[in-house]
Amino acid sequence: MAIRPIVKYGSAVLREMSRPVGEITSEIKDLVADMTATLKEAGGLGLAAAQVGVSLRIFIVDLSALDISAEPKAFINPEILETSGATEYEEGCLSFPGIYQLLTRPDHVRVRALGLDGKEFVEEADGIYARAILHEYDHLDGVLFIDHFSTVSRALVDRKLKKLAKSA
Ligand SMILES: [Zn+2]
Repeated sequence: MAIRPIVKYGSAVLREMSRPVGEITSEIKDLVADMTATLKEAGGLGLAAAQVGVSLRIFIVDLSALDISAEPKAFINPEILETSGATEYEEGCLSFPGIYQLLTRPDHVRVRALGLDGKEFVEEADGIYARAILHEYDHLDGVLFIDHFSTVSRALVDRKLKKLAKSA
């Protein structure tokens, strides 16, 4: 298990459409183990493979910072089946250090994905869990949380974004 560097805004991989995972090989298992360790070290709630520079449809959600009984969970080739409700919450992203924004997202999500064991599962999530899933799912399609900002909020962080992109 190794900590991998987290790719920051400005890196092209964050805008790529990630490819589906074919077989769950030992490389995929290693990647997921590394992503889980990287996410824990960074203290975030979620991490997509693109954020460690790998353009594959995998993300991890780990809510143990909020709920000590929570276990990190890997979602491979996920598919959003349904969303409902709407809620506003302050959101951040490990690829955008220092940028936080109140964003409205659905309050409930139903998602289907493969687990590390290769078996399909369906997960129902609410609140912050739903938000983390939707945020990470966006990464698989090259969509970033700043894309959900209003024009005004986007203008307010414009200088920070340019600085980030420059150092990427
Ligand atoms: Zn993110």
